[in-house]
Amino acid sequence: MRAFRVPFLDLTRQERELREELLRGLSQILERGRYVLGPEVEALEREFSSFCGSGEGIGVNSGTDAIALSLRALGIGGEDEVITSALSAPPTAIAVRLAGARPVFADIDPLTLNLDPESVEERITSRTRVLLPVHLYGRPADMVRMEHIAREHDLILLEDCAQAHGASLHGKPVGTWGKAGCFSFYPTKNLGAYGDAGMVITSDPALARELRSLRDYGRADRDRVERIGVNSRLDELQAAFLRLKLRRLEAWNTRRRELARRYLEAFSDLPVGLPTPSRGEEHVYHLFVITCRERDALREHLARRGVETAVHYSLPLHRQTPFTEVENPPCPQAEHAAQCVLSLPLYPQLTDREQEEVIAAVRDFFRHRP
Ligand SMILES: *Cc1c(COP(=O)(O)O)cnc(C)c1O
Repeated sequence: MRAFRVPFLDLTRQERELREELLRGLSQILERGRYVLGPEVEALEREFSSFCGSGEGIGVNSGTDAIALSLRALGIGGEDEVITSALSAPPTAIAVRLAGARPVFADIDPLTLNLDPESVEERITSRTRVLLPVHLYGRPADMVRMEHIAREHDLILLEDCAQAHGASLHGKPVGTWGKAGCFSFYPTKNLGAYGDAGMVITSDPALARELRSLRDYGRADRDRVERIGVNSRLDELQAAFLRLKLRRLEAWNTRRRELARRYLEAFSDLPVGLPTPSRGEEHVYHLFVITCRERDALREHLARRGVETAVHYSLPLHRQTPFTEVENPPCPQAEHAAQCVLSLPLYPQLTDREQEEVIAAVRDFFRHRP
């Protein structure tokens, strides 16, 4: 008998919580008659960049565009190499290729699952121009070391913050360490729209200006274009929805951390790797990812108990087809992690009862093991 089902993620719970406000926002937009790049987008750009503690925000269509357009605006392309993590979502590397540059994959630290600074240094060549750390699963990458490496080798530091809205390291928010921070508002992220959306934050006014032009055909002003840009404009409806949700982001992240703390306590004696934050790390738990040698067996056991899980990611980026055209140096830790990572249900609307069910089911798996 399956008493209970725990969905990996159920976005309709959040939508139900917000429905009245969303409908009011929707009706305001319809009455105002501005649908793309209007006052809601401008307000969201101000409010989100201020939430992140940075200069200005530039709303775009997606997190992928946020990265690709930032690279283009920085003049990166051609033979330029961009070093990023072998363990991330495919768009991190796709965006580099969209900008015309070449992604170079460095290995990860097996404990944090974030970019390993030593592997990064090994990958630096005369063509390296950008360092693109990913704050994977909501955990800040080692930005102190990244900043140091970037300064030493004269590289641009760009941050993939798609999973880390509100995370910080030593009190400094992610997205403000480098030249720019790239965010996604894909529905499942910590701050998610009801469609695609993204934003770049930067305190470099020239870069911001370049991005505003690039996202809008390459416009100089209303009548003239000055370069070949794209259409990556954020719309008013998504911006209005995101503004409503931004007001709750801090509370939602707090709830995520509370759930994470309970998982960490409940699993502390089990033979699994846990995302325990180090000193100074403000993790926002976009995903709660454990590592386990018997990952697939554990996953099946949980599925039988009605607990849905996911794997982020089963194939490291240097093994993804478009990136195998060139020979990539090995990334043994990323390969190993891809066999061991398991994401457990964790989102603000997960109930205590559901979490208890997950905890019991996980503990049960190990009770019957030697
Ligand atoms: C989601 C995500 C992206 C891409 O964002 P989209 O809005 O889906 O284009 C990039 N990098 C990481 C790490 C992500 O999780």
